[in-house]
Amino acid sequence: MAHRDEPTEDDLAFTVATVWREERVSCPHPNILQAFDAGALTGGAEEFVRFHLEESGCPYCSAVLEDLRSQQRDADRAHLSGLEDRLLRSTISELRRASGA
Ligand SMILES: [Zn+2]
Repeated sequence: MAHRDEPTEDDLAFTVATVWREERVSCPHPNILQAFDAGALTGGAEEFVRFHLEESGCPYCSAVLEDLRSQQRDADRAHLSGLEDRLLRSTISELRRASGA
């Protein structure tokens, strides 16, 4: 990123909002956001995404991240309920065996 004069907060907010609305040029790919969320990014990439989300407060990427997180929650839940089903079934067959049915 090129060096430039210190912008005021208003300048920055205006610039970020304008760039986001017009181009969304600086938005990282959802895969990058996912990697960031998983803590897999390091150095400049991690700083860039953190700045983009936390300082710029990009609503688009925040929404993408929310989506990724809720998908992850759903996936975890599906995995867990599959596990519970298997446990329940094996418990039932154990009980049947034990009761001699
Ligand atoms: Zn963004």
